[in-house]
Amino acid sequence: MLERLLERDVRKRPPTVRFVGRVLFLTEDPELIRRQLAGEDLAWDPSIPLRDDISTDEITPGWVCYHFDEKLGEYPYVGLLCGGEHPIGRNDIRNGGFVCSVSGKRRGKGSSREAAPFAERAAGIRVAIAENIERIYGENCANIDVLASTDFSLIDRIRRGEELPLEAFTADAGSIQRDIIEYGGLLDYAVARLKGLVTVPDIVTPEGRPQTIAEKIVARHWVTDVAKDAVGVPAVKPGDTGFLRTDLRFSHEYVTPMASTFWESFAGDAGLNDPGSILFFRDHLAFLDDVISEERVAAGLLDAAHALHDRQRAFAAAKGVRLHGELPDRTGSEGICHVMLQDRYALPGQVIVGSDSHTPHSGALGCFAFGVGTSAIVNAWATRDVRVSVPESILIRVEGELPAGVTAKDLMLEILRHRAVKGGGAIGRTIEYAGPAVEAMSIDERVTLTNMAAEVGGFTGIIAPDERTVSWIAARRGLPEEDVRKRCEGLFSDPDATYAATIEIDASALEPMLATPGDPGNGVPVSELGRDVALDLVFVGSCTGAKRDDFDMYAAVAREAVEAGRRVPDGVRAYAQFGSVDVERYCVERGYDALLRQAGFEVLAPGCGACINAGPGVSTSPEQVTISSINRNFPGRSGPGKVYLASPYTCMASAIAGRIVPYRPGDGAAG
Ligand code: SF4
Repeated sequence: MLERLLERDVRKRPPTVRFVGRVLFLTEDPELIRRQLAGEDLAWDPSIPLRDDISTDEITPGWVCYHFDEKLGEYPYVGLLCGGEHPIGRNDIRNGGFVCSVSGKRRGKGSSREAAPFAERAAGIRVAIAENIERIYGENCANIDVLASTDFSLIDRIRRGEELPLEAFTADAGSIQRDIIEYGGLLDYAVARLKGLVTVPDIVTPEGRPQTIAEKIVARHWVTDVAKDAVGVPAVKPGDTGFLRTDLRFSHEYVTPMASTFWESFAGDAGLNDPGSILFFRDHLAFLDDVISEERVAAGLLDAAHALHDRQRAFAAAKGVRLHGELPDRTGSEGICHVMLQDRYALPGQVIVGSDSHTPHSGALGCFAFGVGTSAIVNAWATRDVRVSVPESILIRVEGELPAGVTAKDLMLEILRHRAVKGGGAIGRTIEYAGPAVEAMSIDERVTLTNMAAEVGGFTGIIAPDERTVSWIAARRGLPEEDVRKRCEGLFSDPDATYAATIEIDASALEPMLATPGDPGNGVPVSELGRDVALDLVFVGSCTGAKRDDFDMYAAVAREAVEAGRRVPDGVRAYAQFGSVDVERYCVERGYDALLRQAGFEVLAPGCGACINAGPGVSTSPEQVTISSINRNFPGRSGPGKVYLASPYTCMASAIAGRIVPYRPGDGAAG
């Protein structure tokens, strides 16, 4: 397969670039945007109120990502909120003849969604200028040849169509990023790398440097010679930049189709490198048909979503990749990618990349697992490796013992409201969880911590494997414990390893928590909510909240309620959704499904569903109030209503009470 890539002719682009087109300022004031769309060219003036914090979700909302090709170019910025309005509509950017768009701070916040810069590029935007640019968004831009800069003096030069030195866009980049830009994107860069036309900086970090567990895994997987398939260096340190050999690469149906089109234009009909270690999942949109609006059906979005699935299935068959797809006999998916990885595939010490921000889920098993964009997935299909800059680590040490009824989710909501985390102290770093309270947790509970490393903005989350990990994996996978134990050798942080920060938390002082609507960082103890909050909806499920232990907790409260003759009151709709067919089987064997139905829940087959606004349990009006065990409650994420996040216990007790209440063990979920 690599031979096919070596046939590809790649060369550096010319040292200068010139653009022909208009400049669009993305402003707070919707009227200013409307005037530009109508044909007015604004002169750059620092007093123009540029929009800050533009997320990839605003550039390309989830429903736009049902498209995966040039069609995306009809939609960039349709989710952009300016002064409470969405001033940019379908085709406005293409029709406006814009070549450059300008915004304020933190452009490209949010997910690793490469559809965002792809949509901008397909609409004609070739340059993104902002006061500062989020790392993954910036990398994704470079990967598909959208140039990004923080230099506002370029604006008038671009508008005048001046010839600009490429250096203007590479001066602040590291050597790999510079080479990627010079070769016009990650995939041609990958070929240049295979041909030896570019070199990756050598690692000079001395052997014997005390390392964290994450750094040790990274060092073991460091690619030293891509052509000779050589990996491993004695040690790495934060900031070292290069490529890691991956053990597992996965993508879901939002990303596989776009990646497959990239692949075909890059490698033609060539096969993927080692397809046995690649996985595809159909999990996000398996329930979309049940909830999509008539308006969106009329706009062709259901057809587009079905095309995603068709494309993924065809590509999987053509390339010999295992697809965990839809259930053959009913609506639903084999499982959410992260839950399936945890239960069936991930092993301690592995490097795992996935097309989803919750890929750190498997970090609870001692993996270095992180989310990447579409081009990085395609690169990994070719070379089996992934670009990385070794992140700094922060240590979250949890002392003491969690009180009864207080869970990993409560701990996570406490961490999310911690001053250091809210101040951005965890962004881009590896979050290592340790301490007696973490050691006492089950694997499923540990997973809640690493899964939600995404919410704290971390690069990944990780927990050193221990005897509990060994026996869990051995039992779940039918492996000899000795083999698993051997994999875990050396997988711990050295006592004198360096952390950028340490956060200490006393587990015994914690109590049941909520995150109030809008952000997972809006944490407040349930006891301090200070108002009566009646519920319209309850949703328990998602990768964070649909594991076996989560269902043990849901069932425990449901049993107490049923035995006390109580159930979800009329007027509240409650849904429980399994994380995978394995979790479903576990629950059915124990009668949890029947118990939940008796308690008033609708029980759903596995899938992502409501937490991506694509399944039963989504709200339909802004007034509706939901409590949920999912991981994020950003506006619009699960419909237009208000979502409170809480632990499995608190969600269940609140469902039975019909309003938000703390769970008190053994009281029949009386609230
Ligand atoms: S369950 Fe929700 S958060 Fe988890 S992968 Fe699916 S859509 Fe993302």
